[in-house]
Amino acid sequence: MDKGIIQGDRSAKSFVLDLLFPNRCPFCGGFIKYDVLCCDECFPEILWSDEYICRICGKPKDPQCGCEEVRTYDMCITAAYYDGIVTEGIYSLKFRNNLNSAAIFGRALRDTLRESGLLDKADLAVPVPMSPREQRVRGYNQAEELCRFITEGTDIPMRTDILFRRYSRKAQHTLEASQRREGAERTYYVKSSDLILSGKTVLLADDVLTTGSTLNACAALLKDLGAKAVICAAAATA
Ligand SMILES: [Zn+2]
Ligand SMILES: [Zn+2]
Repeated sequence: MDKGIIQGDRSAKSFVLDLLFPNRCPFCGGFIKYDVLCCDECFPEILWSDEYICRICGKPKDPQCGCEEVRTYDMCITAAYYDGIVTEGIYSLKFRNNLNSAAIFGRALRDTLRESGLLDKADLAVPVPMSPREQRVRGYNQAEELCRFITEGTDIPMRTDILFRRYSRKAQHTLEASQRREGAERTYYVKSSDLILSGKTVLLADDVLTTGSTLNACAALLKDLGAKAVICAAAATA
C-alpha cells in the first residue's frame, strides 16, 4: 500500500485542533504529528487484504471461504485482515473516537474498488446503520465515517436515509452464528417498500466482516428495494 494513504489533514484548523485533542496513532495509541493518520512503526504492520481473501464473499480462502453459504450480496471488497494491529485500529474507531483508521481503510477500499472497476459501477453508497440511541452515545457511526472516505473525491452519493437499525440490548458478538443471523434480520429495516433502488448498484459499507449476517441482512433489504447489485466494502475481514 502506498504510504500517501496516511497523509492527513494539513489545514490550519487541523493544526489548532491538535493542540486541544492531540492526534494519536489508531493502532498503538502513540502521539503523532497533526497531519498524519498513523505512526511510521505501525504502517508497515497493517495486514492488507491480498489474493488469499475471496472477493465474492470477502472471507479468507484458507481453509475455505464462505461462498458455499447463503449470501445476498454480490461481492465483498475488504481492506485488511482483522488481525494484529488492525484489530486495535478498529477498536479505536469504535470506542476511542479515533477516526484515523476510517480514513486509512476507507481510502484503501476506494482505491481497490477503483482499480477493479467497481467504483464506476456504484450508483450510491449506504453505510450499515447504528440505532439512533447507540449513535447518540458514540457521537458518530463508524461505518458512515468509513463510507465518507470510500466516496471521497467521487460523485457517488452517500445515503443514510434508506437503511435503519433498531436498538438491541444484546451485542451481536455475544451471540451464536444462527442467533446472529436471526437477530440481524430483525435488527435492520427500511421505511419504504417502494422499488426506490430499481436497477441500481449499491455500495454497502461496514467496519468488520465476521459471520456476514449483518451484510446479508442489509443487502437483502436493499435488494427488496430493487437494487440490481450490492457490493460490500468492509474495512477488515475476520
Ligand atoms: Zn502506531
Ligand atoms: Zn468466497
